Amino acid sequence: MDSFSNGHPEALPSEAKEENEHIIQTTKSLRRHMGLPEDPTEKPSSATPSSEKPIFWVEVAPPSTRGAKCRLDVCPANIMPGQYRIAVNPGCHSFRGHQSPDYYHVGCFEKIADFSQADFVDQVQPVTRNTWQFRNLNSSSVLDGNYLLDAGAERLTISWKKAVKKLINERDGVETKDDTSAAVRDLLDNAGSSTYVPQEIPGANAFEVRLLSSTLAPNESDGPEDTEEWNLFYEFQVVVDQKSLENRHSLDMTLFLWRDHVVLATSNNLTEKLKERKEEELTPKSIRAIKRLAVTPMPDIQGAFLRGL
Ligand SMILES: [Zn+2]
Repeated sequence: MDSFSNGHPEALPSEAKEENEHIIQTTKSLRRHMGLPEDPTEKPSSATPSSEKPIFWVEVAPPSTRGAKCRLDVCPANIMPGQYRIAVNPGCHSFRGHQSPDYYHVGCFEKIADFSQADFVDQVQPVTRNTWQFRNLNSSSVLDGNYLLDAGAERLTISWKKAVKKLINERDGVETKDDTSAAVRDLLDNAGSSTYVPQEIPGANAFEVRLLSSTLAPNESDGPEDTEEWNLFYEFQVVVDQKSLENRHSLDMTLFLWRDHVVLATSNNLTEKLKERKEEELTPKSIRAIKRLAVTPMPDIQGAFLRGL
């Protein structure tokens, strides 16, 4: 179950060396693909248009019999349906104008993408009801519930990106710009808490506000008397301080912990050992919260239809 490292402790030193060499080469080819110099200490050439940079989509692998091949060649496992994965779009391996994405396990991608650098973090996008059209996905497959992140993974991916970016800016002495209004910030941080008072958000999409106040709310409360409300970010966000930037697997860890708890909270088929863990680690309140956030918010088809009339 350890998805944080694909290390093979039993590997011979020469195999480990080969794997390492392969990761170095794949890292260089990803950097080239992004228009960055292979050597991170070199200055980027200004000749590369930044508009062509690939996006690193975080999504759920759709149904398929054998899963998708992970593009990290030394990775022995396919990416199975239902797993979180990274789709680099367009991929490195496009030819004759046909651009297909490259798929990676999240942990495998973190071996080659340096998320302690803004160039990489900036390219991360969650596949959600709001973004799927930019990922060039088949709409009927999306409407069948494929690819889109569940509410918890969506909120955690966005907050991971924000937290990592803030730490990078702090390290590099760059000011973090945030043009989010106080009312929106309040909704994003405090929805679900008994102390949250909804405020008017001028120009906001009512469908989106409704979702953020319900399915996507990060807090779960037992009411005004509750002094220990449950919070999604407190439970699962592993990026906390400058040292977190050295953790090459912080996104995989976050999503792994989240998925692990979703299984504990929602599965009717737990082994005795997992039942014990559920008993120890979860409360009725956390189970309620995780079940709510395990749902995938779907696109506003009705709204889109009405707007199109
Ligand atoms: Zn892999």
